[in-house]
Amino acid sequence: MVSISGLIKRYDDVTALKGVDLEIESSGIIGILGPNGAGKTTLVEIIEGLRLPTEGTVRVLGIDPQENPRRLKERIGAQLQTTAILPELTPAETLSLFAAFYENSIPPKRLLDLIGLRKKARARNRNLSGGQKQRLAIGMALVNDPELLILDEPTTGLDPVARRGVHDIVTELRNRGKTILLTTHYIEEAEKLCDRVIVMKEGQIVADGAPFELTSRASGASTVWIAVEGKLDPTPLMHAGALPNGREKEYFTFQTEHPADFIVALGDLLKKQQVTLTDLRMKRPALEDVYLELIGAPLDEKAAGASLPSNLPTNS
Ligand code: ATP
Repeated sequence: MVSISGLIKRYDDVTALKGVDLEIESSGIIGILGPNGAGKTTLVEIIEGLRLPTEGTVRVLGIDPQENPRRLKERIGAQLQTTAILPELTPAETLSLFAAFYENSIPPKRLLDLIGLRKKARARNRNLSGGQKQRLAIGMALVNDPELLILDEPTTGLDPVARRGVHDIVTELRNRGKTILLTTHYIEEAEKLCDRVIVMKEGQIVADGAPFELTSRASGASTVWIAVEGKLDPTPLMHAGALPNGREKEYFTFQTEHPADFIVALGDLLKKQQVTLTDLRMKRPALEDVYLELIGAPLDEKAAGASLPSNLPTNS
């Protein structure tokens, strides 16, 4: 689907991409995460054929975007960071206009259903909300029924409900077998939505994998909270490698690099000391922790330790 090797992009004295290799073979949602200036937009716009590489090879659906931009545009859909939407047109007119640019296109009515704008089909674009405009922009990118859909920060600036609306569209497209490449600043969005997450920093890919793979590689410890009935002497848990974090409300708290071993040791201990476990909560390192570690953000917040999660299900 996408095959990139040794991609370098220089703008005057800035090297925005410093040798990127990337293969995208299967369908699904692939998220590109990274701080401002990491090179995400440069990368996706080179894939779209909108910017030229300085060095390296890029193939998208077997096409070189530089050599054959027209052929590529027939087969991909792109929503740029800022999409120009003609204010005096309606969503239905906008989608019809875009459909006319392509040999094969999805009928506007079907698209309006897919992006949830059926009721706004005849409203002026200028009167749409931010979330509705964003959904229209996605509809415009989908008009040619693309094999690869590229969305640059599709949810930036949207409220949580509008963001959920965009997530629903993207998930629906994934379920229909599309490949969606999106950039985002929202880590929880990447964790929830993406099958694969690519983390960029200073023009390079520093991590690439399924969210659970990235979090399982995290060096951070899990925090465990336990509440018991009876008198518990937790010392043996420390011998099993857990670090006591003290007490929080009625909870003993521990930090452990090996949560599975901790649970086994805890089970033994409770039996031996004839103490009843009344609650157990666990917080594993989240993608956010891994991300902050990867991009080298200050760890002050992490060092302070996690606090008791009020809304985590027991035994999570
Ligand atoms: P953001 O999250 O802020 O959108 P990004 O990860 O998409 O950032 P890019 O927009 O690709 O990053 O920018 C990467 C680097 O290249 C930055 O240092 C940026 O200033 C620089 N850059 C991007 N476009 C240009 C340009 N047209 N001319 C000169 N420098 C540019």
